[in-house]
Amino acid sequence: MPPSQTQTSLHSIIGQEKAKLFLTRAVRAGKMSHAYLFRGPAGIGKRSTALAFAAYLNCLNRTDDDACGTCRQCRKFASGNHPDLLLIEPDGSAIKIDQIRSLKKDLLFPPLEAQCRVVVLTSIHTMRREATNSLLKTLEEPPDNTVLILTADAAGEILPTIRSRCQTIPFYPLPYNQVINYLLSRPKRAGRAADSISVTEAETLAAIAEGSIGRAMLFKEKDILALRHEIVTRLLPLQPGEPEAVDTVFSLAEQAAKLENHLPELFILLKIWLRDLILLANGMPETSLISRDLATSLALAGQRFNLQQLKDQLHHIDRAEKQLKRNCNRGLVCEVLFFGLL
Ligand SMILES: [Zn+2]
Repeated sequence: MPPSQTQTSLHSIIGQEKAKLFLTRAVRAGKMSHAYLFRGPAGIGKRSTALAFAAYLNCLNRTDDDACGTCRQCRKFASGNHPDLLLIEPDGSAIKIDQIRSLKKDLLFPPLEAQCRVVVLTSIHTMRREATNSLLKTLEEPPDNTVLILTADAAGEILPTIRSRCQTIPFYPLPYNQVINYLLSRPKRAGRAADSISVTEAETLAAIAEGSIGRAMLFKEKDILALRHEIVTRLLPLQPGEPEAVDTVFSLAEQAAKLENHLPELFILLKIWLRDLILLANGMPETSLISRDLATSLALAGQRFNLQQLKDQLHHIDRAEKQLKRNCNRGLVCEVLFFGLL
C-alpha cells in the first residue's frame, strides 16, 4: 500500500531527537543495521520517522542530519510512489501472511532505482505467529541494499525471534508543551474551520494524549472531546427517571455508538473526568485537573455527586469497557452506561 503523501524531512518530525541522531549517525559512520525495530507508544512519530529516514538514505544532496527535500529521490519519496519504498501496514487488524509472501516475492528482484530499498512494516505487534515466522528469514538475511524497519507499540508483545534479529530504537512520549505547540501551530486545511484549536482545547488534548500527537489528533478529528463535553453537560442537570433524561440518554448513546472502534477512547475521557471530580472531592486544586474543557461544570458536578457515587460511575464505565470487549451492541452498552451516569 503506498503512503499517500509522505513526510520526507526528519526535521519536521516533532521530538524523537535521540532516535533521529542515532539513525543518521549510523548512516554517516557506515554502520547501519539491516533491520530496525522502532518501539514506543502509538502516535508519536515511528512511522513518519521510518518514511523520512527512507528519503534520507536515498537523498542525492543530503546534509549530515536531513534529506534535502527537493532532489528527484526526495520528491519521489514525498509523492508516496517511490518503487523502492515498500510500506506494509495491517490489512484489517494485523499484517497477514499473504502480505509477507507478496513482500518476499518483491524482494527477489534488486531495487529499481534506490541506493537503499526500504521496507517498512507497521504495527508488527499485531502480527500472528505464522506471519511472523514467515518474516524471520527475510529479517535475518535481507537482500543487498535493503533495510527493514519494523514499528511496534511499546505495550505490544513481540516475539523474541523478531527482537533478536533487529536493532531496537526506542521512541518516547512527547513532552506536554511540545504537544500543545504542535496542536496550536499545525497547518490548517483550507476552508476547514473545524481544524482550529483554542488554547483550552489544546491544553486538554495535550493533557489526555499521554505524549502522543496521533492520539491528540484522534480525539480532535473524531470529535471525541466535543462529544464528551456534550455528554457531561447534558447529563449533569438531569435527574434519573425524568422523561427528558430518557430521551437525552438515547440520543447521546446513538451519537456515541457512531464512534465504533473509537468508543473505548470516549470511555477513557469520561473516566478522566470522573477521576478529576474524585481528586477535587479529595481537596486537589482545580488548576491540577486535566478536564479543563469542563471547568464550568465542576461546581455543579461537585454538588450533585458524592465520592461514593463518583466511584460507582467509574465502575459503570469499567463494566461498559468489558462489554465492548465481548462485542456487545455498542448502542445498548452506551444507553446502560449513560443511565448509570445520571
Ligand atoms: Zn533529496
